[in-house]
Amino acid sequence: MVALVTGGAGFIGSHVAEQLLKMGNRVLVVDDLSTGKRENISHLEGDEKFSFIQGTILNEPLIERLVEECDIIYHLAAAVGVEFIIGNPIRSIEINVLGTEIVLRLAEKNKKKVIITSSSEIYGKNQKEVFTESDGRVLGTTLTHRWSYSCSKALGEFLALAYWREKCLPVIIVRLFNTCGPRQRGNYGMVVPRFIEQAISGKPITIYGDGNQTRSFAYISDVVNGMVSLANHPGAVGEIFNLGGEQEITISDLAKKVKRLTKSNSEIVYLSYEEVYGEGFEDMRHRIPDTTKIRNLIGYLPRVGLDDTLKKTIEYHRNKKKVEIYL
Ligand code: UDP
Repeated sequence: MVALVTGGAGFIGSHVAEQLLKMGNRVLVVDDLSTGKRENISHLEGDEKFSFIQGTILNEPLIERLVEECDIIYHLAAAVGVEFIIGNPIRSIEINVLGTEIVLRLAEKNKKKVIITSSSEIYGKNQKEVFTESDGRVLGTTLTHRWSYSCSKALGEFLALAYWREKCLPVIIVRLFNTCGPRQRGNYGMVVPRFIEQAISGKPITIYGDGNQTRSFAYISDVVNGMVSLANHPGAVGEIFNLGGEQEITISDLAKKVKRLTKSNSEIVYLSYEEVYGEGFEDMRHRIPDTTKIRNLIGYLPRVGLDDTLKKTIEYHRNKKKVEIYL
């Protein structure tokens, strides 16, 4: 099989590309390196079954050539991270909406299966703690730009489902919850790499808000295995799946855990959302996936618990030659 991974130089994309190569596939990665990094895939570049093409998914002739060449598309190219979305409002909408539209249209023209990566942001500020795929979406005002991300991802889902229903294009939608592991960077807001970098460099660990908001974190290998298994399961076509970890933790407890596991002397500080993101920012209080659906279909069971997830990620950050400074 030839797999096209859009956004394949990013954190999740690079792990997907690596896994597909290990499974014997030919892998084409396209990435504009806006948030992705060449170093994320440099270890794959010697493999004759691997090709990297630098370019944006908005470049239609390029994407058309790649779609023609592949059998399946893993569409991961997207603007991600709360800070990136807020800092790049036009670009993030364009990439997420137009980019997905181009990929789906070309996939349909060439009759290729597409895995669309969506996000738990879809659920917005719905007050539920645990989300099932059919739960409704609760969003704030358009004056708060953060909601554009949820909307752009939702449009991608609508469009993918429309292509499935109207044109029988085989699509699978995967809603990713918080994922962490090696190669994830903290410079667009992601909490785990930020806390780890802060802790190992002795800087204050910055909790936004009161720290009682909760998340669950999945290790990258569990997420990649889940995604690839779905891609190969005929029963997944035309369906939406939550994918993530189910072990809930408050952000305060996460900070304490990271501090303990890194044996850090960093102090833990609390910053208001206004200080960090400006007026009117709204955070989600809870966001835990109900993974019954994916479990029932492919037997998904995360293998790496939270402590091991953090330990493996800490080890990666410690081994990184150059510690990036986020603050
Ligand atoms: N967060 C934090 N300190 C940071 C970065 C993030 O307390 O330095 C919080 C953030 O406000 C949110 C949670 O950690 O409540 C998870 O943030 P992230 O951006 O990683 O993911 P998301 O909000 O998309 O779930």
